[in-house]
Amino acid sequence: MATAAVPKVLKNFINGEWIESSSGRAFEDRNPANTDDLVGMFPSSTAEDVDAAVMAASEALKSWRLVPAPKRAEILYRAAETLVRRKEDLARDMTREMGKVLAETRGDVQEAIDMTYYMAGEGRRLAGQTTPSELRNKFAMSVRQPLGVCGMITPWNFPMAIPSWKIMPALVCGNTVVIKPAEDTPLSTYNLAQILSEAGLPGGVLNVVNGEGPEVGAPLVVHPKVSAVSFTGSSEVGRLVNEACAPNFRPCHLEMGGKNILLVLEDANLELAVESAVWAGFGTTGQRCTAASRVAVQKNVYKEFLDKFVERVKALRVGDGLDTATDMGPCINEKQLETVMKYVEIGKGEGARLATGGQRLTGGPYARGWFHEPTVFADCDPKMRIAQEEIFGPVVAVLEFDNFEQAIEIANGVVYGLSASIYTRDVNKAFAAMRDLHTGIAYVNAPTIGAEIHLPFGGTKRTGNGHREAGTAALDFYSEWKTLYIDYSDRLQRAQMDG
Ligand code: NAD
Repeated sequence: MATAAVPKVLKNFINGEWIESSSGRAFEDRNPANTDDLVGMFPSSTAEDVDAAVMAASEALKSWRLVPAPKRAEILYRAAETLVRRKEDLARDMTREMGKVLAETRGDVQEAIDMTYYMAGEGRRLAGQTTPSELRNKFAMSVRQPLGVCGMITPWNFPMAIPSWKIMPALVCGNTVVIKPAEDTPLSTYNLAQILSEAGLPGGVLNVVNGEGPEVGAPLVVHPKVSAVSFTGSSEVGRLVNEACAPNFRPCHLEMGGKNILLVLEDANLELAVESAVWAGFGTTGQRCTAASRVAVQKNVYKEFLDKFVERVKALRVGDGLDTATDMGPCINEKQLETVMKYVEIGKGEGARLATGGQRLTGGPYARGWFHEPTVFADCDPKMRIAQEEIFGPVVAVLEFDNFEQAIEIANGVVYGLSASIYTRDVNKAFAAMRDLHTGIAYVNAPTIGAEIHLPFGGTKRTGNGHREAGTAALDFYSEWKTLYIDYSDRLQRAQMDG
């Protein structure tokens, strides 16, 4: 079922106009559930296109930074209303290009709606501090100032939510934007840009340049007129972005990989823990940065949990996300499917027990897509690669532990630190876990996925570099503090010395 309204050849958005790339080349956006379905053709852009976009953003900054924040916010409110109105079409477009089931792409669009309304609200806050001066007849306060042109690079797994997490706070703070969307899911960013433009965003304030990471992302990060960079993607590319920003001390916000865990203690509500592990492990085909790709279960309930979990996983219906009967869609592309298959072999080689799945799905409804069975490895050792490395697919490693201390050690024993959850009815253990889990996000009796947009989002260790997306924390990245002192004493007053 294709969405009719999508034009076949789509363009970059630079200085308020839809224009072709200087390369004259284009790349394909295909449906991962059915590669015969060409969603659209997008420009394979170059450093020249990046330069045009950054120069447009730099020019637009001169007036946009002076637009009162509540007026910037009015544009966001109008955009949010269009997102609400067009939610169903946008979700269908997204399922077509990304593969996740409609219920989830509706959620992705909803996240963009929530973020847009939320950041529009910030237009009337953007609060700083006023505080007493230590000197007489002197006034002190701090205000948020825009950074300038923000360069953004996004992944394919949340094609509209993640761009909105970056674009909306940046705009409300008075920055202008150049974004390079993931090459697997350019349509959703295209749709978002179109909606913001129709809502009245002036030309050049938001620019979209499509293409490959090295050809478009790399020149964007180092462009001299870019003041800050926000990247979401793999830790490998995040390191390159970080290194490229370092020589110029360019502020750089990184959101990267995860190897999240769901801990099940012996006193847990087991049914709930099973249901949650299925959702957190196989929702979005395991392609969430917060996916629970590890589940660790206490010895006394290990077998019971595993049996129920495997039974539930076997019942998952894999297929086209546009079919409402589907529980789990395809992998995003051939390369990601190959990664999943490679890790299945690694798991077998390491001696993990394949409890269910393990095969690519081919033939019949799977013939033209990148489908893989939902896969569970049991009896894993915490040091195995399948229990340490991010697979980003429908593969869950199940581990056993003896006691609470060991569970926390397993949870923290990976290089990532995005999300963790614990299932227990013991309030003491729940609070100890909230304190000791070394992650940016922790849940009690809820899965590792399910972040809400008005709270900070991000991770520790190799998942992030200390900044946070969403909530008011996002404003701290997209603005710079300026501290202002106003002396109305009419004489020289020396801080720390006079008065
Ligand atoms: P990726 O790192 O391959 O690509 C991310 C983006 O970087 C893409 O737009 C890509 O074109 C671009 N890119 C690639 N090479 C580049 C280069 N040399 N210079 C500049 N840009 C370049 O990641 P992906 O496969 O799109 O996404 C999956 C990864 O994203 C997983 O590791 C996942 O955990 C992570 N992720 C993290 C979060 C989070 O908030 N922590 C959220 C979603 C996804």
